[in-house]
Amino acid sequence: MRAAFAMLLVACAQGTPETVDSADDRAYTPEVFAIPLAEPERFFQTTGVDHDPEDHGDSTLGSAICTNYDGRGFPWCYDGHDGTDFLLEGGFEAMDAGSTQILAAAAGVVVSTDDGNYDRCHVEGGSVSCDGYPMVGNHVILEHPSGVRTKYWHMKSGSVAVEVGQEVACGDVLGLVGSSGLSSMPHLHFELAVDGQWVDPYAGPNSQPESWWQDQGDDPEELPPSVCP
Ligand SMILES: [Zn+2]
Repeated sequence: MRAAFAMLLVACAQGTPETVDSADDRAYTPEVFAIPLAEPERFFQTTGVDHDPEDHGDSTLGSAICTNYDGRGFPWCYDGHDGTDFLLEGGFEAMDAGSTQILAAAAGVVVSTDDGNYDRCHVEGGSVSCDGYPMVGNHVILEHPSGVRTKYWHMKSGSVAVEVGQEVACGDVLGLVGSSGLSSMPHLHFELAVDGQWVDPYAGPNSQPESWWQDQGDDPEELPPSVCP
C-alpha cells in the first residue's frame, strides 16, 4: 500500500495524467495562451467580454454580462464587447514615452496586419474621434496550430513588427500599444476566435469552466506576469 501511494505521488508530481485529462475536458482543444503584454504591471484595468451580446438593453450602455471569475466581475465591460481590453496606465503620455510591447500569446503564423493608421483616436463629445483621419485600427492577427486565431488591435502607428506569412513564437514582439481605430485611449484589444466565433479566454461563473490562459491570475484588477507555456 505504502509503495503504491508513493508511486501515485510521483506520477502527480510529474503531472502527466492530470494534464491530459484536463485538456480533454475542454470545449475546444486550444493552445494555452500567455498574457500578451511585456509589462502587464503597467495596465490599470481590464475590460472583459460581454457574455450576452444579443441583449442590447434599453440604456445607452445597453446590456452586458461581463466576464466574471472567482465570483467577481471585471470592473466593467460593455454591450457587445467581444474581446478583452488592457488599458495602459498613463494614457497618451505613456504611449508617447515609448509605449509598451504587445507579445504573441502563443506560437502561430501571421495571417493579417495593418499599420500606418492614425493612432491618437480619443473620446470627444461622447464618441470616438480620430481627428478627421479614417477610423482604422492597426492590428495583427495570428493563426495557431489548432485553428484558433488571436487578434491584437489599436496598435501604435509604425510599430507593427511582423508580416503576413511570418511564423512567430510565444512571446515574440508584435508591436506597441496605441489608440488607432475605434479606441478611446491607448489600450490593447485582445480577441480569441474559433471558426470566427469569439471565445472568452477567462474562466469563471459567466464564462467557461477552464481558463485558456497559462495563468489568468486571481484578481481581475492585477494582471499576472506573461509566462509562455
Ligand atoms: Zn475592446
